[in-house]
Amino acid sequence: MKAIRFDGSLRFAVDVPVPRREGEALVQVLCAGICKTDLEIVKGYAGFRGTLGHEFVGLVVESPDEALIGRRVVGEINVGCNRCELCLSGDSRHCTGRTVLGIKGRDGAFAEFLSLPPRNLIEVPDEISDEEAIFTEPIAAACQILDQISISPSSRVVVIGDGKLAQLIIRVLAQTSCNLTLIGKHRRKLELASVAVRHLFQIRDRAEPASILKQVGGEKFDVVVEASGSPSGLPLAISLVRPRGTIILKSTHHATTPVAMSPVVVDEISIIGSRCGRFHRALALLASKAIDVRDLISERIRLDQGLHAFDRAAEPTALKVILEASGENFC
Ligand SMILES: [Zn+2]
Ligand SMILES: [Zn+2]
Repeated sequence: MKAIRFDGSLRFAVDVPVPRREGEALVQVLCAGICKTDLEIVKGYAGFRGTLGHEFVGLVVESPDEALIGRRVVGEINVGCNRCELCLSGDSRHCTGRTVLGIKGRDGAFAEFLSLPPRNLIEVPDEISDEEAIFTEPIAAACQILDQISISPSSRVVVIGDGKLAQLIIRVLAQTSCNLTLIGKHRRKLELASVAVRHLFQIRDRAEPASILKQVGGEKFDVVVEASGSPSGLPLAISLVRPRGTIILKSTHHATTPVAMSPVVVDEISIIGSRCGRFHRALALLASKAIDVRDLISERIRLDQGLHAFDRAAEPTALKVILEASGENFC
């Protein structure tokens, strides 16, 4: 089958074996989304080798659970050992023996077929189109913030970053009616978020926390969500958060982050890493149209043009680039 592989360099292959794992379902990929994490893996993040891709929608073609066959599904990307305490409690996201679709020890979704256990697959309601369904995984990641901290209408929240994930985080956090500010670099991307946020700031090369704070009334923020994908995001977050406030870290970049930590101690700031979320909440937001994602799609490109798609996804103005898995199955 065709697939986009990374083995130290990115390549399009036509001779990749169809992945078949004992006890798992075989899913024909309809389409898949390129995420910042995929771009970072190509730069060395996570040390992954294999077929990339973890945001997808597909059709189940084979499954030990026959009720799934023919269903249109999305898939939870963490596959646990199914034996440890975490897995037995129904949450494999931190199983130490886990594999992760297209990120850790398991071939991913930029291919004609992928393999996942039936328990990872969730049927997509009819109200959600294929291209909307691709956003389930990153919306779930955005929703994870609300599982980790409580945000109320009176919370003052700033999101750093205007990329794909930041745009979804803003849409998810807007559901809480909190006082939302967005800091980004690209005028057009900032405008995309303008319905949901009260204050928008465009920063250029040097971030100026003092001027940002002045424009929002001088008060620091209760919560800073760092989703810039850049090592400069954390120092900016620290300068914007109030004493005893919370920083949520969403960026996964391959670089290390040198940062002065004493303000974190002195101001007793909580820094919380935040990764994968639950899919049901994301699907409910998409099905009810509470979150519209259609304006976040930049382009649809066929899998066999996948290398070009990666170039496009890496352009600063790009949002979600969708890979169509095969000529016959346009999503
Ligand atoms: Zn992702
Ligand atoms: Zn486990």
